[in-house]
Amino acid sequence: MIIDLSSALKHPGQSFAFSVEGNIADIDLYGDLIQIQSPVKVEGSVMYTGSSFFVKGNLKAEYKTKCALCYENVHEAVNCDFDEEYIPAESNESVDAYSITGNTIDITGMIEDNICLHLPLKHTCSDACKGLCPECGCNLNNETCSCQKKVEQSSLENEAAVNNKENPFAVLKGMFSDDDEEA
Ligand SMILES: [Zn+2]
Ligand SMILES: [Zn+2]
Repeated sequence: MIIDLSSALKHPGQSFAFSVEGNIADIDLYGDLIQIQSPVKVEGSVMYTGSSFFVKGNLKAEYKTKCALCYENVHEAVNCDFDEEYIPAESNESVDAYSITGNTIDITGMIEDNICLHLPLKHTCSDACKGLCPECGCNLNNETCSCQKKVEQSSLENEAAVNNKENPFAVLKGMFSDDDEEA
């Protein structure tokens, strides 16, 4: 995604509109694959101050990923504004700044960064997603299985076993009953 700077360079202080489309590579978001659909649409304006370029505008990107709970496909979109400053390499002291090549700026990296900034940390297909059964792996949104009953049953049994062993009142109860026998 390249922006031509020649008009802005000739007329410092004046804003020049641009509209570009391009592809953004898939993003690995903490292990989740974010597949950015093509094209990503970017509209904005560029202005030369005499020493740097201000590039601001709006980007629209649609993407596909998986629900964190049931792994079904999730389609989402990012629609956000950006406002960045580009400083020519010769006066560029900041390592983090985006670079300029000749009379053009390639905004692809900046657009990718802005998409990443606006992605939620976790995607789910719906707020009510029930996820997968931890036992048999079936999608609990579409299917029911009997595993959950078994899990609940065995956890109740475990709880009962723990209570018998560790409940301090069980010991007290034993002491009192001993006293009763002695009395
Ligand atoms: Zn889901
Ligand atoms: Zn199951």
